[in-house]
Amino acid sequence: MIILRVALDVPLPKLFDYRSEDATRADIGYRVLVPFGTKHRVGVIVDVAAKSEVADSRLRPVEKILRDVPPLSREWLALAKFCSDYYHRPLGEVVMSALPPRLRTAKAIPGSAVDYVLTPTGREALALMPERHKRLRALLGRLARSQASQPELEALARSARSLLKRAIESGWVASIDPPRPDVRFVQAHELTSEQQRAVDALCGGLEKFRASLLFGVTGSGKTEIYLQLIAEILERRRQVLVLVPEIALTPALERAFRGRFPGACIFVQTSAMAELERARGWLQAHRGRADIVLGTRLAVFTPLPRLGLVVVDEEQDASFKQREGVRYSARDLAVARARAAGVPVVLCSATPSLETFHHATSGKYELVQLTRRAIDRAALPAVRLIDTRAHPPSDGVAAPLLEALAACLARGEQSLVFLNRRGYAPVLACPACGWVKGCRRCSAHMVVHLAEQRLRCHHCGLAEGIPRACPECGEPDLQPFGRGTQRVEAALAEKLPRARILRVDSDAVRARGKLEDLLERAAHADVLVGTQLLAKGHHFERLTLAAVLNADSGLFSSDYRASERTFAQLQQVAGRSGRANLPGEVLIQTRYPDHPLYRSLANHDFTGFARSLLAERREAGFPPYVFEAALRAESGEIARALHFLESAVERAPQSRASLTVFDPAPMSLARLAEMERAQVLLQSRSRPRLQAFLREWSATLYRMPTHGVRWHLDVDPVEF
Ligand code: ADP
Ligand code: ZN
Ligand code: ZN
Repeated sequence: MIILRVALDVPLPKLFDYRSEDATRADIGYRVLVPFGTKHRVGVIVDVAAKSEVADSRLRPVEKILRDVPPLSREWLALAKFCSDYYHRPLGEVVMSALPPRLRTAKAIPGSAVDYVLTPTGREALALMPERHKRLRALLGRLARSQASQPELEALARSARSLLKRAIESGWVASIDPPRPDVRFVQAHELTSEQQRAVDALCGGLEKFRASLLFGVTGSGKTEIYLQLIAEILERRRQVLVLVPEIALTPALERAFRGRFPGACIFVQTSAMAELERARGWLQAHRGRADIVLGTRLAVFTPLPRLGLVVVDEEQDASFKQREGVRYSARDLAVARARAAGVPVVLCSATPSLETFHHATSGKYELVQLTRRAIDRAALPAVRLIDTRAHPPSDGVAAPLLEALAACLARGEQSLVFLNRRGYAPVLACPACGWVKGCRRCSAHMVVHLAEQRLRCHHCGLAEGIPRACPECGEPDLQPFGRGTQRVEAALAEKLPRARILRVDSDAVRARGKLEDLLERAAHADVLVGTQLLAKGHHFERLTLAAVLNADSGLFSSDYRASERTFAQLQQVAGRSGRANLPGEVLIQTRYPDHPLYRSLANHDFTGFARSLLAERREAGFPPYVFEAALRAESGEIARALHFLESAVERAPQSRASLTVFDPAPMSLARLAEMERAQVLLQSRSRPRLQAFLREWSATLYRMPTHGVRWHLDVDPVEF
């Protein structure tokens, strides 16, 4: 009897043992269907052993090893193990959440055009097979001569289809892909000398692991540079993994990739895809057929047996961090994966995260810099600050901004008005008694959506009608306070009656179908009003004015990452302006025109800004100079969550050298969807010490009574 050690998606830090009569070590990495309680589950075989700690009588047999998908490789399992160890989540949770949803089930994946071959075990089996298995012998005999397609094999006998299925399950026959065309690379531009230098620098180290930061102003042609690198890697018949932050960005990028690499096998991996389509692409990557995999954070787990390069675009983007379940950073895993695979990784950004910037300036990463826009005439836009103390806004728009918008319109050019809030107004309040409408499920205000006559909570999604009167004092004239995109859109329509105004935010996408279509229409609008959805990565030829309405909200946050994020966001907005042949301008409304953040932005001086932030962080003891983790607890009652955290701290490992354990405290958004949330923050100057502490603590935590409290660890947290 053989023991299979199976990773299952169960919130316990262990593997589950099953027995099997005929499995071997070669079965490691296959998915397997096993009985679990009264049901069945799919897991992955991660080890094979002769003995189990579970008594023989209690060991259950596996239902079926799912050999239709080739086994996950040792490297892939090692990546999952690394993720499990580093983020302190059970291996089974990591492994199963890393698979596309379809492969978490035992459902077969309807075949695509493939040929079949006889495997070495199949050849042995055929040699020993008794004469009486005539049909099976005929099938294997046919494959012993040469590979064949499904229709060819089915022509051999009526039962050929089920015989083939059995032969595949026994590991005698394997599918292979038909030959494919050569990949070409289409050169689109003559590289600028700066770009050429960057390509040369990066191409100097393609054979082994090296992390590089490709740091270049928006429009400097970073994409062009990594396309050149990819061409080089494809030439060597290796695979490339490209991670992007936003699902919305993948269609445009995919189109660009297909245009530049005709003949290449390119697959997209995002959570928005149909299950089967995603599973098929994943399989093509796994079989080594895909040349390029382009995807959002979950794509970091795509198996790539010939991996030769990893690219992370907009590496600073917060969406690379998974916020639930296994809370991994895809950017960090991408680096770890490249290191393990011995291949280069290139992180791209105009405003790198301070962590990455620190690595790049301290010599841990290679720094490759671009200081100019790629298109000759596209100078960096001029940034102008509008002091709202001198020019009080009316309906959110100050007079100088309105003039600039009107002038832009008169020139027949396009402008973008950015603000970070969708909806009509962020708050509904009573002018008589000061009552404010909060979400009953969260510690947050509800946002007024006037067009639909609804209030919405942007945290939990709860929607309600707008009350007719104040529930506290009966005042009938409740008023929306503050400004969202809808309100600004309405105000601009009034002030610029001749302009074609288009709002682009996630509400508009939901109402109008696809972002693609909306962006298509956006190209023809005079004024775009939008959130960050519009700020990222889009290219509008005629856009020459970018305006920011409420940037100040990011200046004085309790979150130490707020100014880093604000800078990145403003730079991204600014980067939309003047990308082609027309000079661009950026206007920022602020009460603090002398704030260093705005000064650096106006001087296009990310480096200076980053250095001063790093100095502050060093002084205050924040990342990247310390490493952080959080233990979080969620419960219907805050007292329970805090109590759980207190007893967890009491039972924490005693060795706390170079470690700070803060007191349990409610999170800044303390209530979310009816759950009260609290956390204990940990800091250490030593990552290994922090990890050792977490390892020991997590073992204790799994043994603690929870009394209905849900808990998790978050390593390198980004929300507090
Ligand atoms: P980034 O990613 O750095 O913001 P992109 O790679 O999107 O910049 O390039 C910005 C624009 O410049 C794109 O329209 C791109 O086609 C163009 N571009 C890039 N490199 C060159 C070049 N060498 N010559 C002409 N145009 C270029
Ligand atoms: Zn009132
Ligand atoms: Zn809510």
